[in-house]
Amino acid sequence: MKESDIRPEALLNRYLEFSASDAERCFADVVRQPIPCVGCGGSQANHEFEKNGFAYSSCTACGSLFQSPRPTLAAFEAFYRDSVSSRYWAEVFFPAVAEARRERIFKPRAERLSSLCAQKNVQVDKVIDVGAGYGILLDEWRALHPNASLLAIEPSSVLANECRAKGLDVIEDIAENVTGYQSYADLVVCFEVLEHVYDPLAFVRTLVNLARPGGYVFISTLGVDGFDIQLLWEKSNSIFPPHHINFLSVAGFKLLFERAGLEEIDVTTPGVLDVNIVQNAVKKDPKILHNQRFVRTLLASDATAAAFQRFLSDNLLSSHTWVLGRKPL
Ligand SMILES: [Zn+2]
Repeated sequence: MKESDIRPEALLNRYLEFSASDAERCFADVVRQPIPCVGCGGSQANHEFEKNGFAYSSCTACGSLFQSPRPTLAAFEAFYRDSVSSRYWAEVFFPAVAEARRERIFKPRAERLSSLCAQKNVQVDKVIDVGAGYGILLDEWRALHPNASLLAIEPSSVLANECRAKGLDVIEDIAENVTGYQSYADLVVCFEVLEHVYDPLAFVRTLVNLARPGGYVFISTLGVDGFDIQLLWEKSNSIFPPHHINFLSVAGFKLLFERAGLEEIDVTTPGVLDVNIVQNAVKKDPKILHNQRFVRTLLASDATAAAFQRFLSDNLLSSHTWVLGRKPL
């Protein structure tokens, strides 16, 4: 898989431009407060850089990178309700790549998650997908497990309708407002949402609430320890406010899940795009690897680039991160 398969360059650039202008337009006069580390809760952090008027800090204890001082929750809610970039994502970007993503992302994702559950010996009859989007993951899960009870939680009405069109049960709201499903699911999943959320600890606790005792909570998101983010840092297209504001370290993910009351926490980084993301960034700006002769050599041959990507994935060094934890009995 290549980055351009799931993020065509022209669409991505347009989306990033809209995000940059939203960052100024929607947050210009908003009050901002320093926040504790979103991973470990620690209060010591170093300022790293500023992007589109949003500052990012890294935690001195666990290494997580997060946006701070942070605007108010109300400002983020208004931004997600009505911003050019959010609408562009839901109405233009995602529909253009939805089917490509089904084959390249959602199908392998459902298979990998299913085998992870099998390894843990967990019987999965009830699944909740928080931030279900187009409902593709649940659709693929149903293909593997036709008898499973599936519930999509999706606040956007456009996307909730897409889920209904696939025959899925949908609650059209944010997870924090859902009632009647406490301690319900064998598996609660949440893909590519944590990097956006205002308060990751409160959010993971909400996911834990939806899981039954002995059930599992799963998230996938972007991690700061990944190769492309470490190398590109403030130039990384993945770090774009106001959308992407949390990048936990592997240590930070474990501490976050522990603080939310989960146990038997597993972190893996099955990402496959780090190397290609860096190659694409270097094509645009060769200076990025100016003094990095060894990395240039590594990425120059298809064989070593592919082997290096496998090494990253196997050693918790890809930025695409999976975190799984069990709710105690
Ligand atoms: Zn920390």
